[in-house]
Amino acid sequence: MRWRRLLKFIPTFILVGVAAYLFRPFYLDFSPPAIQLKLFSERCGDRLLGSLNAMDDKAGIAEMLVEIRGENGFKQPIFSGKGRRKGIEKELSVDLRFVPEGRYKLIAEARDASIWRNRSSSQVEFVVDHTPPKLDVRLTPSSPKIGGAISIHVRASEPVYPGMTVVDPNLFGRSSFTFHRLDGEGKVFLAVLGLSLEGKPGRSSVYLSFNDRAGNRSDERLEFDVRPVEFGMRFIALPPEKAKLLTDRRLMEEDRRRLARVRAMAGSERKLWRGRFLMPVEGIITSRFGEFRVYNGGLARSRHMGVDIKAEEGTPVRAANDGIVIFAGRLNVRGNTVIIDHGLGVRSHYCHLRSIAVREGDEVGKGDVIGEVGSTGRATGPHLHWAIEVNGRFVDPIEWTRYEF
Ligand SMILES: [Zn+2]
Repeated sequence: MRWRRLLKFIPTFILVGVAAYLFRPFYLDFSPPAIQLKLFSERCGDRLLGSLNAMDDKAGIAEMLVEIRGENGFKQPIFSGKGRRKGIEKELSVDLRFVPEGRYKLIAEARDASIWRNRSSSQVEFVVDHTPPKLDVRLTPSSPKIGGAISIHVRASEPVYPGMTVVDPNLFGRSSFTFHRLDGEGKVFLAVLGLSLEGKPGRSSVYLSFNDRAGNRSDERLEFDVRPVEFGMRFIALPPEKAKLLTDRRLMEEDRRRLARVRAMAGSERKLWRGRFLMPVEGIITSRFGEFRVYNGGLARSRHMGVDIKAEEGTPVRAANDGIVIFAGRLNVRGNTVIIDHGLGVRSHYCHLRSIAVREGDEVGKGDVIGEVGSTGRATGPHLHWAIEVNGRFVDPIEWTRYEF
């Protein structure tokens, strides 16, 4: 008799069973939704960019709220949603132009659809910064010359990243340039540029821009006068045994090949030189930078891409500044040559040496002896041919003994 009575409840049992089966996530889900909040940058200027990823595999998400809250009491909802969903994936892009500067939290809260309404939240901190960095820009020299160099030194009020730069390509051989970071924080930057011998004197300018970590940009356009230079002309008579160095293509090609590796070298990314350069040898300057040269009655013509310092054979030649020896060897035209890398694309060359006292890879300090004055290669008497190049362009080395680039 009793089992008959129980029989009546079987449909109810089945119904409850089916319902429990169908709705099992709702009953058995004790885990809250998982929320992932990400910001592209924790310093924001005009816009906050990030992503939201919320998931609840079992019951699903029933409610979601994302908002920003400031220490100053500022509150702004970014996103809110109701209705059951398995997951929410969203790119966040929030206009912050009217949000006052300060420290903020981006907060995401979610509840799942289970009967427990499991709740979870996640937050990330960020700073709203609308103030562009202050830049202190210094040009050295304030008025550069044709065939000279100019350095652009920038000190920023906060860590910055270099942005767009513009220079006159007719003057600098390029339309933009690279800033090198000098400090660990990213507040001090330096760029060194060489002015072409073919450039025109007169008014010119550089444009530069820097962005702070929040993306606020500061830019400056600096005008300056480029001074003209009178380049003299010299007629040189080479003795017959050295005259072949003027015309022998094979010897010049050999030099070019030997220097190809050095030319292709990137060099140090760090500024190795300190302060002004030393005159590498004591003596008389017999030939200036940029001079026009005519050899043996017009057999060859060239520009003089360094200075000649006359001194007695055997006089010690010193490194003009700290650096790393990247070439030490014999060349046909320039004779025994040492090339020192000073970093950031700045190199110094010492030619026609009688002997070389350093080897490639050596670190040298300002004033260290690197060789002796001689007259090897295309030289008419003992002297040092001293040259400085900036990113592959030769500039007047004498300026480097006067200014701190
Ligand atoms: Zn020379």
